[in-house]
Amino acid sequence: MVTLDQIVQYAKSTGYIYQGSELYGGLANTWDYGPLGSLLKKNIKDAWIKKFQRQTPYNVLLDSSILMNSEVWKASGHVGGFSDPLTECKSCNQRFRADKLIEDHNHSVSADGWSTDQMYQYLIDQQVTCPNCGKKEFLPIRAFNMMFQTYQGVVLEQANQIYLRPETAQGIFIQFKNIQRTTRKKVPFGVCQVGKAFRNEITPGNFIFRTREFEQMELEFFVKPGTEMDWFNYWKQFCMDWLISLGLKKESLIFDDHKPEALSHYSNATTDIRFQFPWGFDELWGIASRTDYDLKAHQLHSGENLAYLDPDTNERYLPYVIEPSVGVERLVLAFLTNGYDVETLDSGDTRQILHIHPALAPYKAAVLPLIKKEHSGKAIEIFEELNQYFDVVYDETQNIGKRYRRQDAIGTYLCITIDHDTENDQTVTVRNRDTMAQVRVPIKELRNYIEKETKF
Ligand code: ATP
Repeated sequence: MVTLDQIVQYAKSTGYIYQGSELYGGLANTWDYGPLGSLLKKNIKDAWIKKFQRQTPYNVLLDSSILMNSEVWKASGHVGGFSDPLTECKSCNQRFRADKLIEDHNHSVSADGWSTDQMYQYLIDQQVTCPNCGKKEFLPIRAFNMMFQTYQGVVLEQANQIYLRPETAQGIFIQFKNIQRTTRKKVPFGVCQVGKAFRNEITPGNFIFRTREFEQMELEFFVKPGTEMDWFNYWKQFCMDWLISLGLKKESLIFDDHKPEALSHYSNATTDIRFQFPWGFDELWGIASRTDYDLKAHQLHSGENLAYLDPDTNERYLPYVIEPSVGVERLVLAFLTNGYDVETLDSGDTRQILHIHPALAPYKAAVLPLIKKEHSGKAIEIFEELNQYFDVVYDETQNIGKRYRRQDAIGTYLCITIDHDTENDQTVTVRNRDTMAQVRVPIKELRNYIEKETKF
């Protein structure tokens, strides 16, 4: 199994992910996505939108603001309750999330749903040690609100205080009525959104797994009360199938159904899809049945009637909601972990390779003139034709073997080589990343060939 250090080194050295603000000594737990990382993120988001919105009869897309009226966060419960349990080591003053301390101390314990008193008692009874200094005394636990605050406008006063959104979901709930009215969608229907979210996490870490700024892809799926368990199961399986169809190994994925006593107050069923990250199974995707908690809260707080009128039965009700919510960066880390390999070839040489689904690979193909002086003219012509349809890269430096290795290492799915025969027969060599098999393809069929090979 690949280690997290190997992934970090790999990501930095290839141009997938750089340390944020590196020039100025960095800013803890911030990461910048380089030429490859930004393409990978774009491809993940495109694949999600394609599957969850475009190819379903149910779902539409929304792009709501990061900055919202503070009342949204009062109504949703985030101002009062979006907090993590914070404790501090009495000896070294390092701060920790108490639930994570407990779960790291005993992997078979889940502190989901525990009160702060329960957690504190556990720390004492079980003599949990500080991961930083090894002492066993912690300060009582207090709730630490994770929302970033800022001020809108020129006057820094309470009335102008706003928040950076800690999730994209509330943007969907507050537009539920507008969306339903303008699209004339009938329940069941859903709204998909991709966007940045910000959480002042107590203990960010594990590279890009937990950061304070991240991107979420969320679906809020509105259903008739009473049908929510069927839809919950439907979306659970839909999410799992999508991950497997994109190449994540089945044995690296598990459902973690939350026990009734561990459910959040607004949920009547929740499951996490956990992926085997280098440190073990951890949450990749949260899927929750949220009842009508959010719509009810906004209806109460805004005074606006958010009920849906069923045109077939004339019933009025607040829909229940199923929410699959996943972080783009956690998917990036999962795909890098899943695909990274160093293979030993028959020749005894090794090659670094990223086995990543061609639809996600930053470059579908590399265009390579065999000999720069002789073949670059034709190669550039082909490159300029193909880059109208695909992300492709052009490379003419060093010998062809080294160029193949470089493309394998970053996950480029096909290598197209222009050689001596190309001018005569108008064909090129196309090499597959995974099998290294080579075929001759007529130039005029290249576009169709790439499309077919990289389709998702
Ligand atoms: P955790 O228990 O790991 O803190 P959570 O249960 O609070 O996560 P949700 O609020 O359900 O997470 O968020 C939905 C998804 O958003 C998560 O499954 C994860 O993929 C992603 N996510 C949440 N917090 C972060 C973060 N700090 N950094 C990166 N991704 C995150």
